[in-house]
Amino acid sequence: MSSSDLVQVAVDAPIGHLFTYKVPDHLKTELTPGTKVIVPFGRRQLTGVALNRAQDVDSKTLEKLKPISEIYSEPRLGQIHQQWLTWLAHYYLHPIGQVFGLAFAPGPEKRKRASHKISPTAVVSRSQNQKHTPNEDQAHAISEILKAAHKKAFETFLLYGITGSGKTEVYLQVIEGVLAQDKTALVLVPEISLTPQLIERFVTRFGDEVAVIHSHLTPREKADQWWSAVKGEKRILVGARSALFCPLDNLGVIIIDEEHDSSFKQEEGLKYHARDSSIMKARLSQCPVVLGSATPSLESWANMEAGKFKLLELKGRVENRELPDTQIVDMRLVRENRDDRFPSWLSPQLYQELAVCLERGEQSALFLNRRGYAQCLICPDCGYSETCLNCSVTLTAHDRGQKLLCHYCGFEKPLPKKCIKCLTGEYRPLGNGTERVAEDIEQLFSQRGVTVRVARADRDEINTREKLESLLNRIHQKEIDIIVGTQMIAKGHDFPELTLVGVVLADVGLHIPDFRSSERIFQLLTQVAGRAGRHGKPGKVLIQTYVPEHFAIQHALRHDFRGFAQEELKCRKELLYPPFGRLAALRIQGPELAEVESTAMAIMKRLKNFSTIKPEFGSVELLGPTEAVLSRLKNKFRFQILAKGPSTVILNNLMQFGLQLGEEVPSKIDLSIDMDPVNLL
Ligand code: ADP
Ligand code: ZN
Repeated sequence: MSSSDLVQVAVDAPIGHLFTYKVPDHLKTELTPGTKVIVPFGRRQLTGVALNRAQDVDSKTLEKLKPISEIYSEPRLGQIHQQWLTWLAHYYLHPIGQVFGLAFAPGPEKRKRASHKISPTAVVSRSQNQKHTPNEDQAHAISEILKAAHKKAFETFLLYGITGSGKTEVYLQVIEGVLAQDKTALVLVPEISLTPQLIERFVTRFGDEVAVIHSHLTPREKADQWWSAVKGEKRILVGARSALFCPLDNLGVIIIDEEHDSSFKQEEGLKYHARDSSIMKARLSQCPVVLGSATPSLESWANMEAGKFKLLELKGRVENRELPDTQIVDMRLVRENRDDRFPSWLSPQLYQELAVCLERGEQSALFLNRRGYAQCLICPDCGYSETCLNCSVTLTAHDRGQKLLCHYCGFEKPLPKKCIKCLTGEYRPLGNGTERVAEDIEQLFSQRGVTVRVARADRDEINTREKLESLLNRIHQKEIDIIVGTQMIAKGHDFPELTLVGVVLADVGLHIPDFRSSERIFQLLTQVAGRAGRHGKPGKVLIQTYVPEHFAIQHALRHDFRGFAQEELKCRKELLYPPFGRLAALRIQGPELAEVESTAMAIMKRLKNFSTIKPEFGSVELLGPTEAVLSRLKNKFRFQILAKGPSTVILNNLMQFGLQLGEEVPSKIDLSIDMDPVNLL
């Protein structure tokens, strides 16, 4: 048997290498690299992707090889996709067959005629759906991107412009140009911004050319959308991060909106970053990639400053609409001069503004990045607060404090009448959540004889797409006066009547031990402020905080991204955190604390030894093992080793060694590697 009769297959199994199979005669002509196959694997039949022809083997080995069972006629992954998926597997140290598995349609394989109609909703204002003559900055951006697309040149553009500066309009016109060049376009947005409004803007502009993939589709609908894009029947694919795996051919542009958003990083399975991976995809596809944001990630900003990305800036809001007037309310003073007429989270200033806004018949929004009734319930007698059975976190109070819920594993229980520790104290809420804020606001105004229509926008209240659509409709129909929400409505929405935004507590999340916490706060405050006053009416933003002097809050107050970036990058440089150094995290998890800890120590020792033997690892700093901040999640204890180094190539090599060690650890211990980790908790 010669090499043409053997093929390497990426089998969808948790094993990091390729397997060799025989090609039966009747499949020889049909089987080309990139074909999806079914192969015998142990006692099972698994799917996989046939890649290159395999080297000849000796006759003894040959005897043991099994033949491919079946092949699929479509889709076939082109060379670019094969290269890209292989790169992903290497870079993120994930089993190659599982990575390839992601490139096939979820759900039913054989597609019926497209049945999923994207129904337009009536919530998009006219102006949004119109095509606008681009202003000077927009025109420049569009032409630069289209030039690269036309030349089939890979280039990364950073499209930087505040909310409302016309970035989406740039995307739309770039796509129009790309279609005119007979190419396809891929647009990735965070799931949370994949709103009916955004989808409708694409659909009104491009009609039947748009396929949309989001998490609320049924498997059948998702498969329909996927196939219509793969087959080229629809030339634009808009979706959340996983849409990046759809094997589109003939790509003319990839657009990543809100490129800074941390949801582009997948935290389970293949821990890829959709932004970074899309850049590699564009490089292989020889097309431009556009990263759009009002608050670029510091990684992208530094890449731009280093000349790797090209900056395209939209300098003002379109038609020079003004930025909202933004002010800080120092909650320390509010607390000192405590006014009992108001709930403790509400300053008289914010109350005043809300009242004025109501009187004018305009809308306002209150943001608090904490859902539920209270962050926790605490016993005033003994100080006890209930923690989750499975995780090392306190339980959050929900349903007016009647229910306790774990935000990590979903564990819930009814609120006990008395403290379960001292048996006498009655729990009191500590740290308000959106539920409490909404309730307080309703009460406060009704006591004053004013009825306000309050709607809550958080994951508890809005858990289906229908509910989101209905909420958005109600806001647009002016059936809501005050929206109380989490970051769910911080992004992507455009509410014409919204003139006041109150940030209930900017400090939430500022004190978590994560080097990106300042960056996140800056982004969130900027996004939130961008909701106010977008249609001619001036907007106002009040930020309540106990740390008004914090530089992230100060720069957000002045709408000053550049200033923020400069200051934050200085800190990162000193500590060699990304973007100056690179990180890789090795996580060790298991059901027993002692075993997890000793395994973590053993791995650390081996890693250290290994890195002293190899001089190339001299520049890598190994930190830990430390107990993770969330030291127990879903009944697993968690330890972490962090590697900090000058380049990912070096870290990748070291982590490959770490991964090999994984084969030696006790079977109950689960070892995983996260390259360029975003979540360090
Ligand atoms: P961003 O994506 O940066 O938030 P959009 O593209 O949504 O900004 O633009 C904000 C608003 O301005 C939208 O209603 C859009 O239709 C409108 N718009 C965009 N470009 C122009 C333009 N050149 N002239 C007039 N209006 C525009
Ligand atoms: Zn839990």
